[in-house]
Amino acid sequence: MDLKRKYTHIFFDADDTLWENEQYFRDAEVKFTELLADYTSPEGVQQLLWQKQEENIPLFGYGSKTYMIGMADAALDLCGGHLPDRIYYGVKRIITDLAFHELEIIDGVKETLEALQGHYRLIVATKGDLTEQMAKYRKSGLARYFHHCEVMENKNEMNYLELCDKNDLVPSELLMIGNSVKSDIAPVVAIGGTAIHTPHDVVWVHEMMDMPENDRIIEVQNIREVLPYLL
Ligand SMILES: [Mg+2]
Repeated sequence: MDLKRKYTHIFFDADDTLWENEQYFRDAEVKFTELLADYTSPEGVQQLLWQKQEENIPLFGYGSKTYMIGMADAALDLCGGHLPDRIYYGVKRIITDLAFHELEIIDGVKETLEALQGHYRLIVATKGDLTEQMAKYRKSGLARYFHHCEVMENKNEMNYLELCDKNDLVPSELLMIGNSVKSDIAPVVAIGGTAIHTPHDVVWVHEMMDMPENDRIIEVQNIREVLPYLL
C-alpha cells in the first residue's frame, strides 16, 4: 500500500508506541500482589484487581489515579473492610512510583519522527488522564516533532470521528499509528481510515482483541518500518 501524498496528517498513539508504559503497570501489579501476599494468592489479588479496574475505568477513565482507586478497592475487599494504613500507604507509594518513572523512548521512534517531520503534520493521539498524559508528552522530549497532543477520553469510533472534525479531516484522511488493535487500529479502519500496527510485546488485558480483516491495515514490527510507506 502506497500512502505517499495520500495523507497530510499522521496521528501517533503514545503509550507503548512512542514510549514504554505497560511494563510499569505490570511491575506495579507485582508490587501490589506482594503487598497483599498475607491475604490471598497472587492470582487472587490479580483477579480482583482486574475486576475493580473494570468497574472504575468507565467512571473515572484511564490512568494511574483510576488504578489507585482500583487497588484501594481490591485491598479493602481483601482486608475484610478495614484497610490498614500500611496497605493504603503501600498502594499510594506504588502509584507514585508508577506516575513519576523515567520515560523510556521506544527504539526507532526518534529517527522515525525526525524523518517524517516537515513532510506531514504529526499529532499525538493518546487517551487517559489529561494531566498525566500531558506531563509524559512534555517530559518525553518528543514534543518538538509534533504539531500538538490530543488527549482523548477514549478511543472508540465516535472519538475518532470527533478527532477528524477537530483537525478538519474526513475519516478517509485519518492515518493512525499505534500498538493497540482495540484502540488504535479497529476503530480507525471501521470509520474508513488507515492504521499502521506497531505491536508491543506487553498488552494490557483490557486492550486485547483479534486483528480485524481489513486491507487498510499495515503491520510492521518496528516503527521505523513505516518510513518506506510514507516517504
Ligand atoms: Mg498504546
